[in-house]
Amino acid sequence: MLILPDKLPRVGTTIFTVMSKLATDVGALNLSQGFPNFPTDPLLLELVTKAMRNGHNQYAPMAGVPALREALAQKTADCYGISYDPETEITVTSGATEAIYAAITAVVQPNKPTPDEVIVFEPAYDSYVPAIELNGGKPVFVTLAPPEYAIDWQVVANKITDKTRLIIVNTPYNPTGRVWTADDVEQLARLVQNRTIFVVADEVYEHITFDGRVHHSLMQHPVLFDRTFVISSFGKTFHTTGWKIGYCLAPKTLTAAFRKVHQFLTFSVSTPMQYALAEYLQQPDPYRNLSAFYQQKRDLFLQAISGSRLRFTPAEGTFFQCVSYADLTNESDYDLALRLTNEIGVAAIPVSVFYDQKNDYNILRFCFAKDDETLLRAGQRLSQFLVH
Ligand code: PMP
Ligand code: GLN
Repeated sequence: MLILPDKLPRVGTTIFTVMSKLATDVGALNLSQGFPNFPTDPLLLELVTKAMRNGHNQYAPMAGVPALREALAQKTADCYGISYDPETEITVTSGATEAIYAAITAVVQPNKPTPDEVIVFEPAYDSYVPAIELNGGKPVFVTLAPPEYAIDWQVVANKITDKTRLIIVNTPYNPTGRVWTADDVEQLARLVQNRTIFVVADEVYEHITFDGRVHHSLMQHPVLFDRTFVISSFGKTFHTTGWKIGYCLAPKTLTAAFRKVHQFLTFSVSTPMQYALAEYLQQPDPYRNLSAFYQQKRDLFLQAISGSRLRFTPAEGTFFQCVSYADLTNESDYDLALRLTNEIGVAAIPVSVFYDQKNDYNILRFCFAKDDETLLRAGQRLSQFLVH
């Protein structure tokens, strides 16, 4: 019998696949996996068709279509006042997921003589740790607890050793909905300064912040700029999660290492979509208006569950809301997520799956990137169920 050694013994099928499949099977409202259920701007769709008709149907350049990289350089300069060279510092990827994998692979070394250590804040988006482990690195966890999910920077400092090579940051933060403050950025810079530590900044929700909060991109800090791979995704910004197009911004030497990996992971990314995105990016309204668009949805959902005994701190950013059900039941979040899907037809994500060790924080994550009617119906069902 052939035995295949398991490279990821602790990993099963992702929670997003599990919950979305269950939601589909039982016909539940799917507030689990993070994707919008409303249409993409028809203009963007027309631009894709136009690019296809214009013959842009063969391989794109490995780093991305030049017009898209130039548009990204312009957008980044407009939004953050930072300039990246489209030729040598911007790479278009197959979603943020590929960019995260390529950046981690570019940095992390196994066994020299011990594995590189990577600091990961948890709850952590679920692709980080497998990417570290497949590269022979060792994740070192900084655990954040609800409801504040505040970072104790002394704890982070204590976890840094001479083997620490990378820190992964996610702001705005999935699943917690928190947004890093300028002070958080400063604290990180202070810790990595004068050390050979790189940073992956997962900023896929960069355009979704609420109540007047500003997204502080790590690229804006001079100490961090030199060592950071800033990653984003059009999936979140333009309601196109199924297109799987993202990008990585990083200084020249980091980008060179990144592209060595990228060229053999995917080589290049869907050509007509890149042309369409390049043209669509010429007008800033779609991403400038995104925070207000999602803030209305957050507020609608919170209003709809306000009669229940769920407790929450309103999300500061992202399109996710974490809620505590500790006042209602002490069953595990996983069990409750299954029960809510099966019994009342509302699917959510149990947040404990984003931690290394089992915990009983009793938190569920709901995605509010849904049309208003879906949010109201979900809120009504949750309120009726979660009162006793
Ligand atoms: N990072 C975070 C924090 C996410 O929530 C997601 C989910 N979409 C990704 C990365 C992956 O993005 P993409 O779909 O562009 O691969
Ligand atoms: N980022 C999405 C979420 O957090 C899911 C992405 C995926 O399904 N892999 O729900």
